[in-house]
Amino acid sequence: MSSLPSANAAGPVTRFAPSPSGHLHVGGARTALFSFSFSKGRAGKFIIRIEDTDQKRSSDAASVGFLKDLEWLGIRWDEGPEFLAPDGARIGGGPNGSYFQSERLELYNRYCQKLIDEGKAYEAWDTSEELEALRKDAMARKEAFRYRFRGPISADQRAKFVAEGRQPVVRFRSGEVAVTIHDEVLGDATLPAGEVDDFVIRKKDGFPTYHFAVVVDDELMGVTHVLRAQEHFTNTAKHMLLQDALGFRRPVYGHLSIIKNPDDSKMSKRDKDKVLRKAVKERGLTAPPIGTVTADEWTKWIGDDNVQLDLEGAIRLGEALKVQLPEINVDDFRRSGYLPEVLCNFLALNGWSPGGDVEKFDNEFLKQRFGLDRVMKTPAKFDRVKLLAFNTDAITAMPPDDFARRCREHARQYRPEFLARLDDARFALLMTASQERSKTLDDPFKANGFLLLADDALAFSDDKNVRKALGIGAAPADGGRTGLDHLTAIRAILAGLSEWTQSAIESAATAYAAEHAGAKIGAVAQPLRIGVSGSTVSPPIWDTLVLVGKQSAIARIDRCIGWAAALR
Ligand code: GLU
Repeated sequence: MSSLPSANAAGPVTRFAPSPSGHLHVGGARTALFSFSFSKGRAGKFIIRIEDTDQKRSSDAASVGFLKDLEWLGIRWDEGPEFLAPDGARIGGGPNGSYFQSERLELYNRYCQKLIDEGKAYEAWDTSEELEALRKDAMARKEAFRYRFRGPISADQRAKFVAEGRQPVVRFRSGEVAVTIHDEVLGDATLPAGEVDDFVIRKKDGFPTYHFAVVVDDELMGVTHVLRAQEHFTNTAKHMLLQDALGFRRPVYGHLSIIKNPDDSKMSKRDKDKVLRKAVKERGLTAPPIGTVTADEWTKWIGDDNVQLDLEGAIRLGEALKVQLPEINVDDFRRSGYLPEVLCNFLALNGWSPGGDVEKFDNEFLKQRFGLDRVMKTPAKFDRVKLLAFNTDAITAMPPDDFARRCREHARQYRPEFLARLDDARFALLMTASQERSKTLDDPFKANGFLLLADDALAFSDDKNVRKALGIGAAPADGGRTGLDHLTAIRAILAGLSEWTQSAIESAATAYAAEHAGAKIGAVAQPLRIGVSGSTVSPPIWDTLVLVGKQSAIARIDRCIGWAAALR
């Protein structure tokens, strides 16, 4: 059977059909990106459909999260759930709704009944115990268990089942035929006759199974090309049998390999817990750091490697342990300050290549160039180092105004405390002071937490560089003033400044250095940096002093002098 274009689009119709069971994994994002690019580059249509027929796993919040993530990536849908984009655009809707499967039961029932009426599907009343017994029998015969039609039941028998409170599933009579799957990515594969069992198409709760809903919806929504994860490859045989039984068109299929970690393991949300468990072990922690997770959550999590912390708890614990959690889901990358256009570019390279040396491109390029012929069959390895390098390059090349605007958006979402603490001028200064040293939109915030602290909460890091800069534990090489001496002297000068600007501070410090530090500005700047930020790393020092503010700077320097003097 050949594929037909949909009646209501000129080009191919693709869809992304997530089951809203959590966050959008990068693998899912890549499937969406490929599906989107394929149709949009060919004057086609891209649909989002929420496959929420598994009542236990689905949640509305999760679907909204998915939509937000997709929109953020620049993947906008022509049809699908309605969504108000941050720029005010209304996305979604369309003539083939509802785009939530849980609201389409009537349609599925209609087609299910058609199959029953035509003898192509049947009610099966087995209890789970009965099914278990059948499974055991098959095992005893060393056969794989495949459910087959077990003969018609009489009206009396049916009434008896109903009276017992049993509920039937509906099974598809698959017939023992060989099925050849054509796959544009993987090539053809044939499932021998008898491989496909009489699978369930309607569950006891009246909901369709994934197989049934996907087939009905792809037909009714006019889907011509299905790109999805490789784990669905053999499911496609079931879908093809159903399409034939229902007289539906057959879309073109392409199954995409999974994305793996460089060490060949699957990129899974458990990776975060793995990193945290390792850090906890290394530090020999027996209780959760204060303000991270509850004692109860901790006990459950420590006691069982299969238990995962919720995202917020994991983030808090990661911050307390100073470990970077591996990003797995789109919103993890967003939170870490990756740019959506970079993430799309990078995801596309994980499983596709435009050929030649081209590595950097935008979604427009991808739309124009993406085709199934260059999609890779084998799993891609997700190289975070390369992703970060891509992101750094993009941030370096960004006009400063864009950087500031995008960091502000990022802060609104993830770092509101910086917006609360810094007025507009100082926020802008933080941006200009940070761009050069930033690899992500989060770096200006992540690296400068000292700005938020109360002056008496700033801790000075007692490390080699700090000791050296302040002259703790060693006499200065020239027998003159130590860093701490300079800090004490410059503190008095700064306190007397009437103007607190970079240039006023810099000229005062330069004049001081010329007279007392052999014109070595670093001898003054480094102790100052430690004094106001707690360590030897911060944005340029004069910017840093302005960011901290005069009053706080003096208060912090005083504390630093006291702290260092006690160690001397
Ligand atoms: N809901 C399925 C999933 O999330 C969709 C598979 C498909 O695209 O057919 O895996």
